[in-house]
Amino acid sequence: MADRYLSFTGTAPGRFLTRRLGLPQPAALKRWSPQRPALEGARLLLTAGKSDLDLASTDLALTTTGPELTAPAEKPAAVVLDATGVRDVETLAEVHAALHPVLRSVADSGRIVVLGAPLDPADHHQAAVQQALEGFTRSLGKEVGRGRTVNLIRLTDAPAAGSTLRFLLSPKSAYVSGQVIEVGTTGVGTAAVGSAHTGSTEADSTRAGLAEAGLAKASSTEAGSTQAGSPRAAGAVPGVPDRSPADPEHPLAGRIALVTGAARGIGEAVAETLARDGARVVVLDVPSAEQDARRVADRLGGIALALDITAPDAGARIADALPDGLDVLVHNAGITRDRRLVNMPAERWSSVLDVNLASVLRTTDALLAGGTLRRGGRIVATASIAGLAGNAGQTNYGASKAGIAGLVRSLAPRALAEHGVTVNAVAPGFIETRMTAAVPLFIREAGRRMNSLAQGGLPIDVAETTAWLADPGSGAVNGQVVRVCGQSLLGA
Ligand code: NAD
Repeated sequence: MADRYLSFTGTAPGRFLTRRLGLPQPAALKRWSPQRPALEGARLLLTAGKSDLDLASTDLALTTTGPELTAPAEKPAAVVLDATGVRDVETLAEVHAALHPVLRSVADSGRIVVLGAPLDPADHHQAAVQQALEGFTRSLGKEVGRGRTVNLIRLTDAPAAGSTLRFLLSPKSAYVSGQVIEVGTTGVGTAAVGSAHTGSTEADSTRAGLAEAGLAKASSTEAGSTQAGSPRAAGAVPGVPDRSPADPEHPLAGRIALVTGAARGIGEAVAETLARDGARVVVLDVPSAEQDARRVADRLGGIALALDITAPDAGARIADALPDGLDVLVHNAGITRDRRLVNMPAERWSSVLDVNLASVLRTTDALLAGGTLRRGGRIVATASIAGLAGNAGQTNYGASKAGIAGLVRSLAPRALAEHGVTVNAVAPGFIETRMTAAVPLFIREAGRRMNSLAQGGLPIDVAETTAWLADPGSGAVNGQVVRVCGQSLLGA
């Protein structure tokens, strides 16, 4: 369903009228495309407090500026504020001092990323001001407008956060705003992570680090040999081009990714994006959607798997279909059966809980226990802001999606320690799909506008976020529930 209001505000009369009436002003977001793969413009690095962070070691091409800066010569496309060294209220003022002069000049669809430190349990002054950065980030996200986003990364060192910084500083994160992402807290640690988007020297040291943690993929020359700790042979998938994992354009080269519910909607976009990034995709959907699943799989050079994910033996059937194992498991399939609890028959309750939560738990357990999910693997589940905020008429759906967040937080550290697999979730807000097209007009309009970007997201926004979490360089991102909601007011 096209967002006609967004198109209307993109015209001169539309802009004039909506401004006069004080109506929302959604900006056309600049998303990733092969022609425009990066933000266009300078990326400034500002600092508040004394920081030990070595951002120069990343390949982010940040321009360092001093406090003397009043107005940058060129409109920055991105501003990174390193506030990891802020430990007291006095130094917190440097956050204001650093950003205040440049804010107005940040380009449309520009990015502001605040870097914070983990809260120090032994220093309540540090903890107070580091937590303050969260309120600051979320408030600024609601102010900046013009398609600009503001996010906070809590990190311990720069290389571990490389893939996250690259994502947040790119057009791929157009609909991610007001988020707090922890990097390195339950991840594999900095020695073992790095980015697949790096030159060969860094990539080599990254591979060495991954090997140390028992997470290394076989390199192209090792293809077909058994990975350390893995019962499966790597790189032995028939028809998978054996590209180096360090290929910056194809970070998922040589990997197999299974996406549930991928015959249409968000799942289709996820499969497409993972294939763009080099993965061989398995498009799973219910038997009644097999034709659509095949169409998607054929287009992406993958395979279709007609399977109802609620089948008790779904995990075993996936394992049988993938004798060479799996690297990325995306639990996307989901349904709604809305009704207020007083009117909800038990069947509506159980069908939603079964598809959205029970089958996710069952297949995850089966694929981890049986070793189908290889070491270095990634699980990305799909929650929803309805699960975080609650929604009238969706007690079943809200429960199932909150359950996903609980699953992620509990399993993430264990899955990493025992299987070398990270577990994260995306929590979409209002995304333009067939599911939301069925929402009554008035509620649909409210869903679209009630966020800082004043518009609905697109399936590609969820897909790009999933691809970042699935990236081999995102090993330090674990146990996170990342909202893709344009900073929705719901549950914020
Ligand atoms: P959609 O209805 O367009 O697509 C869902 C897909 O899942 C369909 O292809 C369907 O056949 C498949 N599916 C359903 N039950 C299945 C089963 N038992 N086994 C295998 N496949 C099954 O939905 P969408 O809008 O693309 O949503 C995708 C995911 O994102 C869902 O988990 C949904 O809850 C979540 N989500 C969507 C939004 C949104 O605004 N669209 C918001 C929050 C969360």
